[in-house]
Amino acid sequence: MVLGASVAFVMEKVVIIGSGCAGLTAALYTARANLHPLVLTGKQPGGLLTTTTIVENYPGFPEGVDGYELMTRMQKQAERFGARVKYGEVESADLSRGPFQLGVDGETVETETLIIASGASHRHLGLESEHLLENKGVTYCATCDGALPIFRSKPLVVVGGGDSACEEALYLTRFGSVVYIVHRRDSLRASKIMAERTLSNPKIKPVWDSVVTEILDMKQQKVTGVRLKNVKTGTESVMECAGVFVAIGHVPSTEIFKGVIEMDDAGYIIPKRGSATNVPGVFVAGDCFDRVYRQAVTAAGLGCAAAIDAERYLAARNE
Ligand code: NAP
Repeated sequence: MVLGASVAFVMEKVVIIGSGCAGLTAALYTARANLHPLVLTGKQPGGLLTTTTIVENYPGFPEGVDGYELMTRMQKQAERFGARVKYGEVESADLSRGPFQLGVDGETVETETLIIASGASHRHLGLESEHLLENKGVTYCATCDGALPIFRSKPLVVVGGGDSACEEALYLTRFGSVVYIVHRRDSLRASKIMAERTLSNPKIKPVWDSVVTEILDMKQQKVTGVRLKNVKTGTESVMECAGVFVAIGHVPSTEIFKGVIEMDDAGYIIPKRGSATNVPGVFVAGDCFDRVYRQAVTAAGLGCAAAIDAERYLAARNE
């Protein structure tokens, strides 16, 4: 993705935090409303979809579309109408009065309205060994890391039972000798088509009712296996592997708005009406508030809704 825009020291009409499906759709709509939006990408330009391979359920692409390509196209489409996309991470937000002030990589951006489309990041198991072996065999993205030589023709472990875990496991069958999918239940929660595809793949072996209690081996500074516990019997065992791919869901990226924007205990923003939050002029879209659907197409739809709400808010103020 090409990220060339610079932050102007003028008051923005619309700033969008996040450049996934929600953020870039909000950018397209606000750009077409001549609001010249500024999109701040966050640390993963294009959002989580850029880390997937083929997206088969985004309407309009009967053969599927590469996640990175889809997001690049969305960005180009928004830019065509005047959106500016800038690499930047929002470190602070003063929403106590308008114009809102955002601290972005040491600079201040002022804006009349804000669309929070900051998405979600990978949930961690919370193990000390997971943290210490991250990037030494522990990863959260098969498409990013699966092809590394350390994983070639070796047994690999995927943790989780949702669509992400299935997607990771299927992708890893290209590289690993066998892919174990370790899940804490006795059936996958993934969509039917993904679950069937996964369980019928001869290279994928499910390990049911099990949780990873430790990733080995911290002393060797590389992954050599996992310690497992069967949640039904309490039995412990060790399984050899060269890589652990954690795919156990996501946590919303809303930390900087805690205490200001209303959210639930898990950090998902709670909108008041439509996409409007408890702070007038601040709207929300995508995975940072949608804990139910979490699809590319629903995120895009929510981005559209937030853009329309922001546009109407600005129009009403200027009447
Ligand atoms: P998810 O559906 O929330 O599944 C997370 C899985 O991780 C669940 O099976 C859960 O177990 C397990 N889990 C959570 N915390 C755990 C922990 N601490 N230890 C062990 N296991 C844990 O998340 P997702 O798979 O990332 O999917 C998120 C959304 O994106 C879904 O709506 C999904 O449909 C969508 N998605 C779609 C596609 C596609 O269509 N191709 C691909 C990827 C994602 P339990 O089942 O016991 O809760």
